[in-house]
Amino acid sequence: MQYRKLNNQDGLSALGFGCMRFPKKGNGFNHEEIEREIKYAVENGVNYFDTAYLYPGNEEEFGRAVDKLGLRSKIFIATKMPHYFMKSVEDAEKRFKEQLTRLRTDHVDYYLMHMLPDVVSWHALCERGIDEWLEKKKADGLIKRIGFSFHGSSDMFIKLLHERKWDFAQIQYNYLDENTQAGAKGLKEAASLGVPVIIMEPLRGGRLVSGIPEKATQLIKESTGMSNAEFGLRWLWNQPEVTTVLSGMNSMAMVEENIRIASETEENSLTEDNMRTYEKVVEEIEKKVRVRCTGCGYCMPCPAGVDIPGCFKTYNTSYVENYASGIREYFMCAGMKNERALASQCRKCGKCEKHCPQGIQIRDELVKVKRRFENPIFKIGLFFAPGHIKKK
Ligand code: SF4
Ligand code: SF4
Repeated sequence: MQYRKLNNQDGLSALGFGCMRFPKKGNGFNHEEIEREIKYAVENGVNYFDTAYLYPGNEEEFGRAVDKLGLRSKIFIATKMPHYFMKSVEDAEKRFKEQLTRLRTDHVDYYLMHMLPDVVSWHALCERGIDEWLEKKKADGLIKRIGFSFHGSSDMFIKLLHERKWDFAQIQYNYLDENTQAGAKGLKEAASLGVPVIIMEPLRGGRLVSGIPEKATQLIKESTGMSNAEFGLRWLWNQPEVTTVLSGMNSMAMVEENIRIASETEENSLTEDNMRTYEKVVEEIEKKVRVRCTGCGYCMPCPAGVDIPGCFKTYNTSYVENYASGIREYFMCAGMKNERALASQCRKCGKCEKHCPQGIQIRDELVKVKRRFENPIFKIGLFFAPGHIKKK
């Protein structure tokens, strides 16, 4: 494992374990597999683990596994405060205590304001006394480092960076988002201020692995010999300003592969040829992908039952692969369920758009999904689908 030198006073591992996508078994977590993966990761040098109050059951499951494995002293736990619920210091206190209980720990190493959107929201939190509360927690040793996670423009990210002395920040960053979100500009600004940067969505929720056009995959293979995942990750670890890259790992194969890549990739090791391949791959992707949804699910649940990320994933598939694959997937994910989850069910309430970190105009895009897929033949198929028959 490598440990970046720049602004990395705690020696965080270059690879961080994103717990959000822990493997499942039936309706719950796959405890044995999760323990196996965490143990292997720690034995191979991973020391940063990221969860959040809002990931369903995630803090508890992670706390349980770490407690059982006796690994607490070997790792840094990062978790996030759902600051939008924090109307007062009392609220913050209550949720924080809950988090310590869930995580079975007496302190949190890295504590983030989850998806802090802008300076106005930060000021509102300060007015409620949250900044002072955080500092007090830090002075008492209950929180070691204070930071925020961010999905938004580079200008807003930079403004937020200057609002206080942050200990770290977490941004969405990958080769497709070099000039969107906080972007390279935000990353460099953070580094110049001495703020370590944790990367989330390094592979855009797996879309840069399995959701890119065949031509892009071929280009990667022929020019670099890398898998799509390795191609995406190496771009990040090539940059000295990147402290830790979070990967939402949910299989042992993924843990092993990511540890290998993190251990091998040196800073500034990519060649000019490699960089040209990234440019060409981005061009290929931008030609085909219609909606830049990462599948994070923050827009869910939809009160009308629409499977928003599913709609966008299948819509993109219909352009990236072919129409038949897209509509087949759409039928499976939105039409075959007992409770339908179709784009046409959208009532345009707008609730989802307030939560989308990518700023997607979800209502407008769903209209396009509906137009593309929900033709008369599709509707006949729906009529005979098991969910419909069962209801009748
Ligand atoms: S705008 Fe449509 S998709 Fe979004 S939450 Fe409302 S009903 Fe659901
Ligand atoms: S539409 Fe936005 S919030 Fe919903 S899954 Fe996609 S990126 Fe996430």
